[in-house]
Amino acid sequence: MLKSLALARPKKRLFLGLLLASEFFVAAALYGLWIICCPGLENIFEYLPAIVGAFLIFVSTFSFGALCNMVLAVKGLPTLKLFHRYSFAIIKFLFPVSVRIGKIFGIKRRQIEGSFVAVSNLIFMKSGIKVPAKKLLVLSPHCLQLSSCPHKITRDPNNCKRCGGCNVGDLMKLSEEMGFTFFVATGGTLARQVVMKNRPQAVLAIACERDLMSGIQDVYPLPAVGVLNIRPNGPCFNTRVDMDEVRRVLDKIVEEKNS
Ligand code: SF4
Repeated sequence: MLKSLALARPKKRLFLGLLLASEFFVAAALYGLWIICCPGLENIFEYLPAIVGAFLIFVSTFSFGALCNMVLAVKGLPTLKLFHRYSFAIIKFLFPVSVRIGKIFGIKRRQIEGSFVAVSNLIFMKSGIKVPAKKLLVLSPHCLQLSSCPHKITRDPNNCKRCGGCNVGDLMKLSEEMGFTFFVATGGTLARQVVMKNRPQAVLAIACERDLMSGIQDVYPLPAVGVLNIRPNGPCFNTRVDMDEVRRVLDKIVEEKNS
């Protein structure tokens, strides 16, 4: 059951398509605004409409280039590094527009966020990032812990007794077996503190679509891969994670010890 829930993967083209649609919408809106403002700008300075127009064309072309770069990355084709650092800034700017456009077509925000995570994960995997286990930080949300568990694991996950009641015990066992750092974070602030303190080379985050979307952007340029949690009891309560999927991702990103 958990596996079938986890395999309901969001489509990558949904996010990219909505971002491109948002890009065209914003460019058209800026063009309309520029037309309206032209007479006023001309009154200030004769060449101001041309200067503002050139700036808007530059911004629109640049962000379109960054989006095309993302499409190339998803397709596994060569990309321009110049665009990489601006991609998430552009996503942050266009995302609210994408959500509104998605709403018109009956697409839920969560689906779009899930599609972002799928795109981001694919780019991560295609970039062939491999890190030693001790340089990998695995973060999970607090809601993964069984709500009735009396042990305080948020400051020290070693307090978990591995009773089998939730996936925290499974992740603890896996971290001992493989050697990665595992931490349970109660929120984005604590997660950021843990990242700052541990200085990992990569992060594997387990969370819902919304938290993964913001978390992956927050830790950039640190590479981060996301695994969606499973919510059989609704959001933020006794959530689960598909451990087979976690292992599959770990196998791809953790360097073999003798390599
Ligand atoms: S596995 Fe650990 S965290 Fe989960 S219920 Fe058991 S003791 Fe608590």
